[in-house]
Amino acid sequence: MAKIMAINAGSSSIKFQLLDMPAETVIASGVMERIGLATGIFTLKFDGKKEETNPVLPTHAEGVELLLHTLIEKGILKSLDEITGVGHRVVQGGEYFQDSALIDDEALAKIDKLKDLAPLHNPAHIIGIKAFQKALPNVAQVAVFDTVFHQTMSPECYMYATPYEWYENYGVRKYGAHGTSHQYVSQRTAELLGKDAKDTKIIVCHLGNGASICAVKGGKSIDTSMGLTPLEGIPMGTRSGNLDPTIVSFIAEKENLSASQVVNILNKKSGYLGMSGRSNDARDVTLGMDEGDYRCKLTFDVQAKRIVDYIASYYVLMGGCDAIAFTAGMGENLIHLRKNILDRLTVLGVKLDEEANNVRAVEREITTKDSAIKAFIVPTNEEVMIARDVIRITNK
Ligand code: AMP
Repeated sequence: MAKIMAINAGSSSIKFQLLDMPAETVIASGVMERIGLATGIFTLKFDGKKEETNPVLPTHAEGVELLLHTLIEKGILKSLDEITGVGHRVVQGGEYFQDSALIDDEALAKIDKLKDLAPLHNPAHIIGIKAFQKALPNVAQVAVFDTVFHQTMSPECYMYATPYEWYENYGVRKYGAHGTSHQYVSQRTAELLGKDAKDTKIIVCHLGNGASICAVKGGKSIDTSMGLTPLEGIPMGTRSGNLDPTIVSFIAEKENLSASQVVNILNKKSGYLGMSGRSNDARDVTLGMDEGDYRCKLTFDVQAKRIVDYIASYYVLMGGCDAIAFTAGMGENLIHLRKNILDRLTVLGVKLDEEANNVRAVEREITTKDSAIKAFIVPTNEEVMIARDVIRITNK
């Protein structure tokens, strides 16, 4: 039996889950937020309870110390020696990391070097990794990359039609994201189909505040909607997704902004937020739509249309499709969005089972028996994938 900590460190937060392996049961989970601010928020869930406190967390190091101390204090762990490995989600592994990796000085330096491609994420992951290295110096730390699952894409899928030197000199290509989620959900969908993943063609729709679509053929990612950065692809909570790149210089000129200021707006003030004018949160936009707000309804329609564009293109790319899987906050919970998407696919023989679809966050099939392509809701579980990888990599 091993107890593995799965960590997702952001610039001011640390999400954690302590798992019992190989049973894959969650012993405790939670998040430390507002690190570096006057008061932090520490949420801890265990034994069916949820506790929230407001400690001062000057840096991630104090956050990790408090977390470990609390696990002992609450009797969740008898000793820190029970933790046999820590897995860290890392957004960008570039072309260098083709698999999850044991973190040593060389790996850490590489993750740091790749911050060029993930300036918001990789530096935060490094801070999280260093805090755990300090607190648990004798415990194996493993990096699990969002990009690794997509490293099986072929050049025709990952290359942009830009000067080839941009790729050679700066690594400009598509890397994708949400790989751990796409891998988990596609594996689970293959199980639900009762097939070996090798014999399946699955399209995963990871629809959260960040969102991406992935074509998974034979258990491998062959194309995905996110690109060099998470801005590419479908519209998201605050991101625009694909657009004519000329819009950047056009708006820069009109509004007297720099290119990076416009790109910032495309990342932080577009998508659901920009289109609806209400919120990046799909619940608020749903409320607006139900009140008859034109822009809220349009927001969902634009996103559904673009998602279907990807599904249709991946259907052709894979030479068919056995199943479409919906996951993440919106994919699992937004009944009307799943219907909006699947109704647009009747031409491919997709038949939604409205009653089956009328649920939130339940793993189940949502198409009728005679549907040509099956659709499923599959709640994602990135933490289990991280914990599995910690065991696999440390056993190597
Ligand atoms: P994520 O990034 O996966 O946490 O997903 C966040 C998105 O999921 C937000 O737009 C939320 O509005 C949406 N979401 C989460 N829970 C629900 C729910 N119960 N009903 C509708 N939308 C939800």
